[in-house]
Amino acid sequence: MAPQPGAAAWERMESLDPVDWSDLRALGHRMVEDMFDHLETLRDGPVWRPMPQALRQDLTAKLPRKPTSADSVYQDFRRLVQPYATGNLHPGFMGWVHGGGNPIGMLAELLAGGLNANLGGRDHAPIEIERQVIRWAAEMLGFPEDASGVLVTGTSVANLIGVLVARSASLGPSARTDGVGQTRLVAYTSAAAHGCLPRAMEMAGLGRDALRLIDCDRNGRMRLDLLADRVAQDRAAGMRPFLVVGTAGSVDIGAVDDLSEIATFAAREKIWFHVDGAYGALAALAPKLRPLLAGIERADSVAFDFHKWAQVPYDAGCIVVRDAARHLEAFGAEAAYLRREHRGLAGGGVWPCDLGPDLSRGFRALKVWMTFSVYGADRIGRIVQQTCDLASALAERIDREPALQRLAPVALNIVCFRYVEADGDLDRLNADIVADVQESGIAAPSTTTVQGVLGIRAAIVNHRTNRADIVVLVKAVLAAGRARAVDKKKPPVMHRGQVYREASRLGDAGTRGPFPAPGAGTLAAP
Ligand SMILES: *Cc1c(COP(=O)(O)O)cnc(C)c1O
Repeated sequence: MAPQPGAAAWERMESLDPVDWSDLRALGHRMVEDMFDHLETLRDGPVWRPMPQALRQDLTAKLPRKPTSADSVYQDFRRLVQPYATGNLHPGFMGWVHGGGNPIGMLAELLAGGLNANLGGRDHAPIEIERQVIRWAAEMLGFPEDASGVLVTGTSVANLIGVLVARSASLGPSARTDGVGQTRLVAYTSAAAHGCLPRAMEMAGLGRDALRLIDCDRNGRMRLDLLADRVAQDRAAGMRPFLVVGTAGSVDIGAVDDLSEIATFAAREKIWFHVDGAYGALAALAPKLRPLLAGIERADSVAFDFHKWAQVPYDAGCIVVRDAARHLEAFGAEAAYLRREHRGLAGGGVWPCDLGPDLSRGFRALKVWMTFSVYGADRIGRIVQQTCDLASALAERIDREPALQRLAPVALNIVCFRYVEADGDLDRLNADIVADVQESGIAAPSTTTVQGVLGIRAAIVNHRTNRADIVVLVKAVLAAGRARAVDKKKPPVMHRGQVYREASRLGDAGTRGPFPAPGAGTLAAP
């Protein structure tokens, strides 16, 4: 008989749980309190500040072999991490298309971390939560109840899944064994489509050249006459059109393709119709905006994010596929160790690992489920509408300001403009203005190229952003622009408190929003 460990050895067995939980409990409570403080006082701090080089050095240590107290590691988090995050919680953050997160989602992350569920498969309640979320997504989009879907990191992966399901629908499941070879599959999307689509084509083995980028009209919508021409041309050349991707909310200016016309075209041509609705799909929850998405309910698949307009904490992307059999056909797993049973923990029907590339997966569904349950879809729809209303207000303001020029129509929540009251290289000037404003901590717009010129891009996504923040953004851009127009080389000195105060003093209609309390210490800091 093999020697058994003695009692002393059993005593020494390791576990990561504490023997006495009281200290850890206290620390956990403090963390939650501190995070609520952080959320409650967001406005008092800068939107973003760069992480000092010296502090980055503190993150170059070797693998820690020995323990450090949880208190001390938490202090490091407070010192090194929290102050230098992206800034997307802050109402002044308008760069790229970032969601603001929400406190219920934050708590859901704590609970999900506590359960540590693996949603690759098997029979348990967390998977039922994800199935519920997918049914909600289908309902929101006007898809049939039995549509299939799965949560993923983001729309980049959701779009990849869309391409792979479309590929398998076109070639049949044999593509999974035979590969794509010389299948001559070609896909179509607008020239304004997101960069993850050509990447999806690369990863699908089809090559980015097989994605035809169709030019847009003046409103940034894919031109359907050119689409039809290109498909006809490709067919004549012996290519195999298999997929057309419509965009609902283009990343640069927020344009929405004519999804209804694309649906009709795709049906006639027998081509898979996928929609990249990364953030735009959430417009389905806002009654005034929903008509813009008409036709999305006829798509074969839709990719979108809960972490943008729905304000769910990162990360939470989603793909919904109308025909569940097609979805399963593209990913169904067969490995022996994933064997399904009719009863026991290995039961539970189709597993999420049958619907995408991931096997082990976390409990993203919980934060989506809790966010929608607590706030309700209508309230999220009102937030979506509010950000679009703010974008209109910003556009109007820009149009009244001679030093600023708007660069694109505003279909949803993105406003592109630039500072024009200066000579010389306006692209350089506007890039500098954006960096100046970001570094001032006052606001965080980003840049993009519209019609060949570099513009300042304000994407209003955050539920915390209000009219005052719009005024502050304009003031900050004007201040930076004027300073730079005088001295191109010198970054302007801008004080956050001053810009905020000026904006409120001007008594702009609608600037009654919650300005930071006067006298709050951090306000006067640059
Ligand atoms: C953000 C975005 C993506 C990429 O989504 P991720 O969640 O960042 O992967 C794709 N398409 C559009 C239109 C987007 O706005």
